[in-house]
Amino acid sequence: MEQQMMNSTQSTPTETVKRILNVTENLALFYNPANGHHSLRALTQLSQNSVLHTFSAREYVARPTYLSVQVADDRHIHLAPEFLQYINHSCEPNTFFDTSKGEVIALRNIAANEEITFFYPSTEWSMTQPFTCFCGTRSCLGQIQGASYLNKQALVKYRFAEHIHQRLQGVFGAYWKTTRGLSLASVSARLRLPALPPFPQISF
Ligand SMILES: [Zn+2]
Repeated sequence: MEQQMMNSTQSTPTETVKRILNVTENLALFYNPANGHHSLRALTQLSQNSVLHTFSAREYVARPTYLSVQVADDRHIHLAPEFLQYINHSCEPNTFFDTSKGEVIALRNIAANEEITFFYPSTEWSMTQPFTCFCGTRSCLGQIQGASYLNKQALVKYRFAEHIHQRLQGVFGAYWKTTRGLSLASVSARLRLPALPPFPQISF
């Protein structure tokens, strides 16, 4: 969620980025001297549903910042370990921040050298610094402002953190009840995302 990362670098040719630090045996921090952007990339192939890393709060912040991740309606954290803040946004993400478990999870198989990305509105209800996304994916949404700004068509594509899911259900509950189950499978297949597990604490 770093400010300089707000414009996704996913479409950047990999030959222009330089590895600057191995942060785990599977992940490394890269730097693009052409635009000053950092990114986190896989060093090895990572399997769908695997936990890339756990995370916790380095500190809690009362209001969202350009670095923070929202973990509850009224809670925003700065991430520990700190290198996770270099995970950029994509409208076709390959990881998900599970804020209930404190885990970064692979949404699909991730190839070696592939950039690690997540969908910022999956944790953020209303972002303090909206940005225009240039992820270049087929489903790019353009302006990224948080889950509260997503249209109904976007809502069915993504997996959301529990606090966002509950809030969306409050706003779009009737819509989700009638369409979510029907459309999810086809959308997930198109995006090569796994089908979403049900949220057991919510009855649709
Ligand atoms: Zn995008």
